[in-house]
Amino acid sequence: MAPMVDIVDRYERYRRNVLNLQASENFICSHVRMALGSDLAARYSHIMPDGHNAYGGTDKIEEIYTESEVSVKALFKSKFAEIRPTGGHIAAEICILSSVKKGGTLMAIPEEYGGYTGYMQPYLPDLYSMKYEPIPYNGETQEIIYDEFEAKAKEVKPQAIVLGQSFLVKHYDLKRIREIADSCGAKVLYDGSHPMGLIAGKKFQPDAMALSDVLYGSTHKTFFGPQGGIILTNDGDFFTHIQENTVWKTFDNYHPNHIAALGIAAQDLIQFGETYASWVVSNSANLARALQDSGISVKYAPWYTESHQVILSSDNREKYGDFREISKKLGNNNIIVDTEGRIGTSEITRLGLTDMMKLGQVMSDAIKGKDVRKDVTEILRNTGVKYCR
Ligand SMILES: *Cc1c(COP(=O)(O)O)cnc(C)c1O
Repeated sequence: MAPMVDIVDRYERYRRNVLNLQASENFICSHVRMALGSDLAARYSHIMPDGHNAYGGTDKIEEIYTESEVSVKALFKSKFAEIRPTGGHIAAEICILSSVKKGGTLMAIPEEYGGYTGYMQPYLPDLYSMKYEPIPYNGETQEIIYDEFEAKAKEVKPQAIVLGQSFLVKHYDLKRIREIADSCGAKVLYDGSHPMGLIAGKKFQPDAMALSDVLYGSTHKTFFGPQGGIILTNDGDFFTHIQENTVWKTFDNYHPNHIAALGIAAQDLIQFGETYASWVVSNSANLARALQDSGISVKYAPWYTESHQVILSSDNREKYGDFREISKKLGNNNIIVDTEGRIGTSEITRLGLTDMMKLGQVMSDAIKGKDVRKDVTEILRNTGVKYCR
């Protein structure tokens, strides 16, 4: 048996020497880490329905909870916030349970177009005896086919229209979706797991709060961490339903350390969110162009992306291998991307990287089989943590 402490120590050292471009991940600041590793990680604080706390020694934990909630609400200018879910999936479960009855229908963007797998029939819909219907979607333009969607919504009468994708490069026409939803009595659920930090920074789907019934999702993709989920709404009645689907249904303990870390991250985003988000968006568009110019096929030319994601084309397969092989080649050069063809610019932006010409060239060289470890070390040497107080 190898001592676990040594393995974790080696892991930390490994991470200090790689560039991470995974679209679902972000860097966490030292003060967010401090909160995660604090005494709070071992505590409970549980306010019962009659208002008393089931645990002792919780005064400060309650204060931390309240301030974290205040910070999240201030960041999104939302009237209500549920900050306890420990992941975007749990936030999604709560919102779906609060809007779709047993036997009811939800519409979502199909997995084949980058929609979230959890909304497909065998997962959440089956678990809660609901029906999933696909939102008609054009993969080429990355747009909902609105006329077809309207006709289909009138026919299947969904109780919820669930927006959001795990592969996400374009805004939705939320005005149009709102009209369609109102015409068939559906709630609009915006799963912002990927763009949450960009929405906070007002650089992606800035109307998400105003035009959907609820905005929810992960707090660690473009958001500043920690891993968790939040639910935001301005609708008091809907928030009451949301509260009914939390404790003892979808979770019990909410991990108070994660609540403390979330509040710190939210305050960092209040201060730096707009600058950070505008750099993320321009970095991804520039990285897409740089990759394409250096011979790597990127999807959706000439606009490529409006978010933090750059999507590689499967046309690269013949010359450079499939997404797994590309990920492996980059990984061998200390550049981390997923094995699904997504590249994300959140984390490198937090490290202050802005020269996407250079990064695109280095990545392209690695994909073509060159050893670029020295270039990666050089890039890392010139980075520093940004957007942390
Ligand atoms: C990542 C993701 C989720 C799940 O979030 P977790 O935080 O991993 O639980 C849900 N929906 C979408 C669109 C996602 O991309």
